Amino acid sequence: GAGDVHGEVVVLGSGPGGYTAAFRAADLGKKVVLIEKDSNLGGVCLNVGCIPSKALLHAAKVITEAEEMGAHGVSFAAPQVDLDNLRGWKDSVVKQLTGGLGGLAKGRKVQVVNGYGRFTGPNMIEVDNDGAKTTVSFDQCIIAAGSQPVQLPFIPHDDPRVIDSTGALELDGVPERLLVLGGGIIGLEMATVYDALGSNVTIVELMDQIIPGADKDIVKPLHKRIEGRYEAIRLKTKVTAVEALDEGLKVTFEDDKGEVSTDMFDKVLVAVGRRPNGALIDAGAAGVAVDERGFIAVDSQQRTGVAHIFAIGDVVGQPMLAHKAVHEGKVAAEVAAGHKRFFDARVIPSVAYTDPEVAWVGLTETQAKAEGIKVGKGVFPWAASGRSLSLGRSEGITKLIFDEETDRVIGAGIVGPNAGDLVAEAALAIEMGADAVDLGHTIHPHPTLSETLNFAAEMFEGTITDLM
Ligand code: FAD
Repeated sequence: GAGDVHGEVVVLGSGPGGYTAAFRAADLGKKVVLIEKDSNLGGVCLNVGCIPSKALLHAAKVITEAEEMGAHGVSFAAPQVDLDNLRGWKDSVVKQLTGGLGGLAKGRKVQVVNGYGRFTGPNMIEVDNDGAKTTVSFDQCIIAAGSQPVQLPFIPHDDPRVIDSTGALELDGVPERLLVLGGGIIGLEMATVYDALGSNVTIVELMDQIIPGADKDIVKPLHKRIEGRYEAIRLKTKVTAVEALDEGLKVTFEDDKGEVSTDMFDKVLVAVGRRPNGALIDAGAAGVAVDERGFIAVDSQQRTGVAHIFAIGDVVGQPMLAHKAVHEGKVAAEVAAGHKRFFDARVIPSVAYTDPEVAWVGLTETQAKAEGIKVGKGVFPWAASGRSLSLGRSEGITKLIFDEETDRVIGAGIVGPNAGDLVAEAALAIEMGADAVDLGHTIHPHPTLSETLNFAAEMFEGTITDLM
């Protein structure tokens, strides 16, 4: 065999959660082993998630902005898209980051063991690299095995025209008619890319709105814009069958009234959620409980039911986001190194990097009302933001949600270009227990989109009443 390895802390999986935990534990003096089945470090986020999608979304943004500038006196020729070159650039962005991780691991003497890991006992993982086995023993372990796309039983996933987000990021051609199954963040981001590249996009979503986790008013400007660009957005509709025919993928839809229809697509992107990899690592051999969906339950120190085994990231639950995984990774590593640390974040922001971006943090208005909170809000329409208008865009909204009793900010929803960057200020405000005056009296630079938070707070306070 490839031999035996021991780590004081062994991390299973090298995504944002895993590499963060490994590096932090090493920085705190632990001898760390990092197990990864893929040849590159970085997990879903760096290889087939956050980063490649953002590179392609940048290309999409350049294309659509160039198109739209035509109405304001600056015209460009139709874009010539060289898919190989674009894919190569995207891959180079990924490679720069994943390669960087290799260097950071080396610098910390984190030993990377390549192969697929499964628990064989409470202090043991066996790693299989194409038949070559390594036995990795540990004092403490951090499970960071992540998640993978959900597949549906009635869809021919083995047909190359049926793709998931990983397939979509491969940029293997631009289908003429693309069906995106699932109106969540991942599906809508990929739709943004393929729409810009020239596909006729249809979105189908079971719920009565796209991005069901966010407030309707915040999602509406995105809905309106893509409704104008895409072939169709079918809400309250489910796909009940996909048939692989020579001439295309024949899709059967059923709406909430029971009405059935069919349509033909060149490709179907399935983006109906992600399932955790917890059930695929023989966690039971170590005594770690995994629920029927594949999630591993942890306490506020990221410990599983087995005191020396921690779990972090997508495998422990929602929201399945990289920044949550990173934060949990730090907590687990610090606890493993003997520090007193807890996961005590009040809020975790969510962002759809669509055009416009949709971002929210803390309680949504819907949630706050459901919790019986006396909800106050400040809503600033970007049509009154000079910076937004000078970007050629007016549909954005910044909404701050307050507890009327304390004036404290408890949530924010933002839609518009760069909403994802803007929502960080609201996250800080909530963590710091800021109230409306704190945001309203902080001088924001003019003219920026960040002012819209300032103005939304003033709208709530009543110090701005009329918009120019
Ligand atoms: P993962 O990143 O899933 O990493 C797990 C790692 O463990 C993988 O490398 C896997 O190969 C390895 N592994 C699993 N099992 C084993 C085993 N048994 N043995 C060895 N290795 C194993 N999140 C954001 O916050 N922002 C975004 O913009 C964003 N965009 C996304 C876009 C797409 C298309 C997708 C699919 C996801 C996106 N996400 C985004 C979600 C984000 O990628 C995940 O939340 C994040 O990667 C989770 O990190 P993790 O460390 O838990 O696990």
